[in-house]
Amino acid sequence: MKIIDNKSLKEHNTFGIDASAKEFVTVKNIDELKEALQTDLEILILGGGSNVLFTKDFPGRVIKNEIKGISTVRENDNNVLIKAMGGEVWHEFVLYTVNQNLGGIENLSLIPGTVGAAPMQNIGAYGTEIKDTLESLEALEIETGAIKKFTANECNFGYRSSIFKNELKNKFFIISATFNLSKSPIINASYGKVADSLHEKAISNPTVKDVSDAIINIRSSKLPDWRKIGNAGSFFKNPVINKKYFLKIKQKYPDVPSFEIPENQIKIPAGWLIEKCGFRGKTKGNTGTYEKQALIIINKGNATGLEILNFSKEIQRCVKNKFGIKLDTEVNFY
Ligand SMILES: Cc1cc2nc3c(=O)[nH]c(=O)nc-3n(C[C@H](O)[C@H](O)[C@H](O)COP(=O)(O)OP(=O)(O)OC[C@H]3O[C@@H](n4cnc5c(N)ncnc54)[C@H](O)[C@@H]3O)c2cc1C
Repeated sequence: MKIIDNKSLKEHNTFGIDASAKEFVTVKNIDELKEALQTDLEILILGGGSNVLFTKDFPGRVIKNEIKGISTVRENDNNVLIKAMGGEVWHEFVLYTVNQNLGGIENLSLIPGTVGAAPMQNIGAYGTEIKDTLESLEALEIETGAIKKFTANECNFGYRSSIFKNELKNKFFIISATFNLSKSPIINASYGKVADSLHEKAISNPTVKDVSDAIINIRSSKLPDWRKIGNAGSFFKNPVINKKYFLKIKQKYPDVPSFEIPENQIKIPAGWLIEKCGFRGKTKGNTGTYEKQALIIINKGNATGLEILNFSKEIQRCVKNKFGIKLDTEVNFY
């Protein structure tokens, strides 16, 4: 196991923040992981770094997950259980399933990061979340080294959340995830832009590959490429409010977009709230919001994590003052 001291994390986070780690270790198998965990230093598990913001140098050991491997656990005439190790690149895993015409995660094409981090916030896009297909996962308890299996139910998945982002944060290293995929996929192409894109191509009976291709095109055109413009995707979660309060907002802003969700709750796109506060495309020093989507905070070059954090707080304050709504962050801070 090679420990690198004072390693710059710039190449290891999609925001491109030039923070450093006191120690940096890459692990390629479980034995290396167990060895890497033998330290008194604070530990940070890192996948693709696409959902983290380093606000300062990390004073402990960063363990970069490169434990790879994909295998079929079992299958029958209708379904296949496929297990992917946590260090697999998420999008490559999606393509692996799409190329076999297996349905279930095609709508999650092109989300950056690793398989191991995907359950952390129950990644989601275009009407699908991983909770819809995740069968179970294996995770190693950092304190004891014991490997525990969690069923999907035990992961307590919610909107961009799981037990690993809450009660068990920093307590388990997710080693692998097993997905239940369908050999007779039910296509979910109802999302406006996906349906439009398929319609434009005159595809009336889309395959999982058609849906994946459409989503790759849409995402490539609307999201900034983090290799060129540092970002971590949506910085905030879409807030959920009760219907009564929503109707009050709608009186004042009749054009407010919304999605009804169970229990009389309404989800409002955070991007719309931020845009209404005048932040879309706004620049402040080395940071700002993306001109096509106010929900994405960008690094315009040499931003520090602290600059981005302060800018995000400014946005939160403005949304709170104007709408009385608290924006929660999706990104993990270190
Ligand atoms: C351009 C862009 C678009 C995005 N679009 C979406 C989207 O559509 N939907 C969506 O849900 N997300 C989206 N994201 C966010 C991000 O891609 C996901 O959250 C992704 O799952 C993060 O994976 P990662 O490997 O990069 O995690 P990292 O950023 O490395 O880590 C994120 C958190 O998970 C923890 N972690 C990482 N690996 C493990 C592990 N093996 N075990 C335990 N904890 C771990 C880390 O300690 C950290 O707290 C987007 C990001 C970008 C940059």
